[in-house]
Amino acid sequence: MEYFGVDRHLIADASLVTGLVGQRLVPLLCEKCYIPWVEKAPELASDIRTSLERYCTVEWGSKPGKLYFRNHEGCDHCRNTIPLTGCIISRGVTGHTGHCRGCTR
Ligand SMILES: [Zn+2]
Repeated sequence: MEYFGVDRHLIADASLVTGLVGQRLVPLLCEKCYIPWVEKAPELASDIRTSLERYCTVEWGSKPGKLYFRNHEGCDHCRNTIPLTGCIISRGVTGHTGHCRGCTR
């Protein structure tokens, strides 16, 4: 028998439950104003920069140069306000997803 298109024995699998509990929505950075690694790296503390370079470099091709950072100032494309108050409620983010950009390509 299937539930939601998944075999029953898979629904009871502990690793599936662990994966569902651990999943979080990640912010989608605004493509108009995100900050690439080459611009952000000089601003980072040396220990953080070193950690990112170490952990983001893997054999199959990932490199720190593929990292992008949120622009907390935002831009006209991503800055949203509450119409009545004019209060800014988001900057640098255009939505949220359960997949990283690398997974959707
Ligand atoms: Zn933006």
